[in-house]
Amino acid sequence: MHKVMDVSAADFQKTVLENSLPVGVIFYSNDCPVCASVLPLFERMAQIYEGKILFTRINRDFNRGLSKQYHVKASSTILFFSQGKEVCRRLSGYIRTPELRCALESITGGNCDCPERDKVECDVLILGGGPAGLTAAIYAARAKFYTVVVDDSFIGGQVATTWQVANYPGTNGVIRGVELVGNMKRQALDFGAQIDDMQEITDIRLDGPLKILTTKTTEYAAKSVIIATGAHPRKLNIEGEEAFTGRGVHYCATCDAALYQDAHVMVVGGGDSAVEEAVFLTRYAKKVTVVHRRDTFRASGAAQAELFKSASIEVLFNREVVAIHGENFVTSVTLRDVHTKQTQQMPIDGIFIYIGMQPMSKLFEGQLALDENGYIVTDDKLRTSREGVFAAGDVRFKEVRQITTAVGDGAVAAIMAGRYLSEIESTQSKGEDKK
Ligand code: NAP
Repeated sequence: MHKVMDVSAADFQKTVLENSLPVGVIFYSNDCPVCASVLPLFERMAQIYEGKILFTRINRDFNRGLSKQYHVKASSTILFFSQGKEVCRRLSGYIRTPELRCALESITGGNCDCPERDKVECDVLILGGGPAGLTAAIYAARAKFYTVVVDDSFIGGQVATTWQVANYPGTNGVIRGVELVGNMKRQALDFGAQIDDMQEITDIRLDGPLKILTTKTTEYAAKSVIIATGAHPRKLNIEGEEAFTGRGVHYCATCDAALYQDAHVMVVGGGDSAVEEAVFLTRYAKKVTVVHRRDTFRASGAAQAELFKSASIEVLFNREVVAIHGENFVTSVTLRDVHTKQTQQMPIDGIFIYIGMQPMSKLFEGQLALDENGYIVTDDKLRTSREGVFAAGDVRFKEVRQITTAVGDGAVAAIMAGRYLSEIESTQSKGEDKK
């Protein structure tokens, strides 16, 4: 049974504002890949917090007035209400399980009643359900290893939020990211992999022959681990960025570009993501200004050619955004010339930040060798500094980060994990024979 109640502008006052319980309201929209992933998480939390918080959802496509009234400018956005007033920080965009859990805990003010943990023993435990993790799952499960994929969010990784993937071989260049990764997930399941998404990871121990991963609900004991946790968008860390996140500051054009019909938006960055997403934004915005800190892009020639072909894109080289301003929404930015240091104000309606990625490796600090940027160090067999632990995809140190290279990594890591498992098995059986 659904625990999340549909609410519209007509019943908002009664259901949300006049409710005796605190109320969580998720604003979502159709055709939004992030929403498709956050809604099930919201549903799961509704089961856990039943009776303590009322969980409701509002479709922005049909309730534009209400979205405007509450200054909701991104899908998905979660607001919390208590006694008729909005309380606590709102959450927006890629909402992760721990972030939502923390917000709910602070609203209820109580401790989490954790149920007894399930126990899962497996051969290959894969952390992360993007292309690298899912490919590893396909290979490991097909080789008849008991394979479990654990993700603290939704399955799909960054690709699931990419509108269209043009350079993945065998797809004619017209496949949607969500479809590509959906196919990978189905294939992994068909080969017998277990996929446990939206897990709240609390601890991991990678020393010892059995690697132990603990989540809020389950304790996994694995003979080998493949880390494919990927990376997430890096922030500019400038004035106004955090305050206006979801109110004009965005990190996913696929999710939020449609809000900027006939508007003027800015894109920051000079890599493939910035250049490709700037072109995507021209489907909606009447003008896109790309701001890059150097005088050449790092993006591929093909992506640049598309960008320079567009009459609605303006490129400002040698500039950086130093502050974002607005009232309820972003209204302007301060730009600075990197050479002359002169600043200028530029009015804009929204800003999309694409300045690279941050590896999701915090959990492994102190347990695995990481480079100075936090990427996991591997050898050519994708072994990490711990025996039985492999890393694949964007989370590991490497030159080229593409879906194809993530997929290649996934295959290599699974094959190497398989060899490792065979070796430990044969060492164990030799030991038994000697007894
Ligand atoms: P990226 O290639 O690392 O580029 C990041 C860009 O942001 C660079 O131009 C960098 O400037 C700029 N930047 C970094 N920090 C900044 C800061 N603090 N302020 C202002 N600008 C800053 O990141 P990405 O574009 O997200 O791509 C990540 C990986 O995915 C890359 O390997 C890319 O090739 C791949 N990718 C591939 C495709 C595709 O093949 N279709 C699509 C998307 C992404 P500098 O140039 O001065 O360093």
